[in-house]
Amino acid sequence: MRFVEIIRKKRDGGTLTREELSFFIEGICNGSIPDYQTSALLMAVFLKGMDDGETAALCQLMTESGSVLELDESLPTVDKHSTGGVGDKTTFIISPAVASLGLYVAKMSGRGLGHTGGTIDKLEAIPGFRTELEPDEFKRIYMETGLCIIGQTGNMVPADKILYGLRDLTATVDSIPLIATSIMSKKLAGGAKSMVLDVKAGEGSFMKDEQAAIELAKVMVRIGDMNGRNVSALITTMDQPLGYCVGNAIEVEESIEMLKGKDIPDLMEISTALAGEMLHLAKGTPVDKARVLAAESMKNGKALEKLKEMIRAQGGDDRVAEDYSLFGQSGHILEVFSEEEGYVTSVKAMGIGKASMDCGAGRTEKDSPVDHTAGVRLDKKAGDHVRKGERLARAYTSFEEHGEIIRGIRQSYTFSKEKPKKRKLILARVTRQGTERL
Ligand code: URA
Repeated sequence: MRFVEIIRKKRDGGTLTREELSFFIEGICNGSIPDYQTSALLMAVFLKGMDDGETAALCQLMTESGSVLELDESLPTVDKHSTGGVGDKTTFIISPAVASLGLYVAKMSGRGLGHTGGTIDKLEAIPGFRTELEPDEFKRIYMETGLCIIGQTGNMVPADKILYGLRDLTATVDSIPLIATSIMSKKLAGGAKSMVLDVKAGEGSFMKDEQAAIELAKVMVRIGDMNGRNVSALITTMDQPLGYCVGNAIEVEESIEMLKGKDIPDLMEISTALAGEMLHLAKGTPVDKARVLAAESMKNGKALEKLKEMIRAQGGDDRVAEDYSLFGQSGHILEVFSEEEGYVTSVKAMGIGKASMDCGAGRTEKDSPVDHTAGVRLDKKAGDHVRKGERLARAYTSFEEHGEIIRGIRQSYTFSKEKPKKRKLILARVTRQGTERL
């Protein structure tokens, strides 16, 4: 087989066979296909797409390119994935909530890249918390506590590491078959029987509009189905950060605050819906009842206790739940004041995500370190009234250059004289039965 013929076939709109896709994945993993040819095929897929059969086969081959976690078949194992948002800390809320209700969450998560944060970076803000565990320890912890979250181990889905690195550099990230296979290969390798996908739509996400997000969700649900997993997806709005905090330690802190009873409406609404969906898939609990149960465990202290149990089990200092100063402190706290009076109409997720990165909370390159104490804490969100000179947000940074951070936060806010309409947070639900607009 000559790889140039495979590129030509896709370039001309053809459908690749399983053998051709297998040749491709084997070739990138053993180094026999050079990056320039891989890039050419990625661009051809970006432009011509893939049908269901090609997408499912590619996903399966990517999953099998490395090691796969074997979870206990008899347990209700469940996973959740977000396509990437700003201030998205739902994992710290819903995972302990459903674990406290008898599900097993054995979860592999990623680090942040670009304007969206990563669960692993946030967890590592907890002093002592270990995210690199040997398979035996990972298994022991999730079997004992029902909850364990680790980073991706070295040899899981190596094909995705190669492809994702090239997609980032060849403007081929936002392709539905490429995103769907990238996400689902990692989820399938993670081994859970049920999985809930939070597919973000809006200015701060990969999928800018709702219809594209639904299309992506449908493809991922189908891939799960074809691989014998229970998968459903919620399409949720990502046009402003979720909750008030964006960063690492401050996102864990905000999650703990919510589990102690603080009212954070958007975070609560999305967390309840996702956790309800997890219970529904893994245990068959009717969705409405599942949401009520999930909300109860977030409010009655059980989810908080489970989160602390996981922190202890993974070597972390669970006293952070009572004393946030144990997270450490950034060198500077910058206050950003409004230059306008009116209602906030939007707080752009992308702008705040970038400002948080400028504070040091994110990484611009794959292996660069992050500052766990850095980030942005919003005082005002869409719908709030603001007077001139009133504080909009605080930024935490240890860098000495502050102009760009303050400008970035200020430019993320837009105002109007009229109070804006409340935005819908959960737009649709995609299951193997179909799509329900909400
Ligand atoms: N997240 C992933 O893991 N892969 C993508 O392609 C996009 C988001």
